[in-house]
Amino acid sequence: LFCASQDFDFFYFVQQWPGSYCDTQKNCCYPTSGKPDADFGIHGLWPNYNDGSYPSNCDPSNPFNPSQISDLRSSLQNNWPTLACPSGDGMTFWSHEWNKHGTCSESVLKQHDYFEAALSLRQKANILKALTSAGIEPNGGSYSLSSIKGAIKDAIGYTPFIECNVDSSGNSQLYQVYLCVNNSGSDFIECSVFPHGKCDSEIQFPSFYA
Ligand code: 5GP
Ligand code: 5GP
Ligand code: 5GP
Repeated sequence: LFCASQDFDFFYFVQQWPGSYCDTQKNCCYPTSGKPDADFGIHGLWPNYNDGSYPSNCDPSNPFNPSQISDLRSSLQNNWPTLACPSGDGMTFWSHEWNKHGTCSESVLKQHDYFEAALSLRQKANILKALTSAGIEPNGGSYSLSSIKGAIKDAIGYTPFIECNVDSSGNSQLYQVYLCVNNSGSDFIECSVFPHGKCDSEIQFPSFYA
């Protein structure tokens, strides 16, 4: 081939609400570093195509290497905590995310820069502050999907996609927030395509007690 095809078009930057990861049928486990803050945590930074499809596991020859992120370890523990069972220090989660997603954007972000880019985006997108400023609190109350999206758009400047999951009583609730990021990983952009998945028009925002 004469031209390198473009690796990917944009990233989804995905944050998860720990209260909604933990109150489903499946249980959660706190990381060995301690209970996470009652705040949104990073799930991942995912290369995507404009047609909605996405590449994955692009470079098995460049697997996750913990020594390359040793300087980011405490920041990752605070901002990218793992809630899966059994409890771990986060390395398994970060390794999964690098191997599945990060290797598909390594032409623009090497491993250290990939994690640093995600941490920097997290600092720029304080979802909990955006919501609480609009009176949307993690107190188990129900809020309209449109008010949640509007509060995030007002605070951050871009329309998010909201992914819901279902609590153990069957209620639709705020689980993950997707924002789109340019293909250098530096700035938020409007999404050209949204993921799939249904929320009710009113969704719960469960608490996550400290
Ligand atoms: P689920 O099937 O639970 O929605 O997603 C499982 C996993 O597939 C996600 O955690 C993520 O790794 C990947 N995934 C799901 N949807 C998308 C998407 O729209 N774009 C990308 N890049 N990855 C996705
Ligand atoms: P994805 O859905 O991104 O492909 O993969 C998520 C994987 O990371 C799953 O294997 C899941 O068990 C693991 N994982 C570890 N910690 C977490 C966490 O805090 N949240 C989510 N959503 N997945 C986690
Ligand atoms: P509209 O484009 O009128 O806002 O929404 C069209 C449909 O997409 C509605 O069924 C609405 O519930 C759904 N929808 C809009 N935004 C989101 C979102 O952020 N997350 C999810 N899961 N569905 C959405």
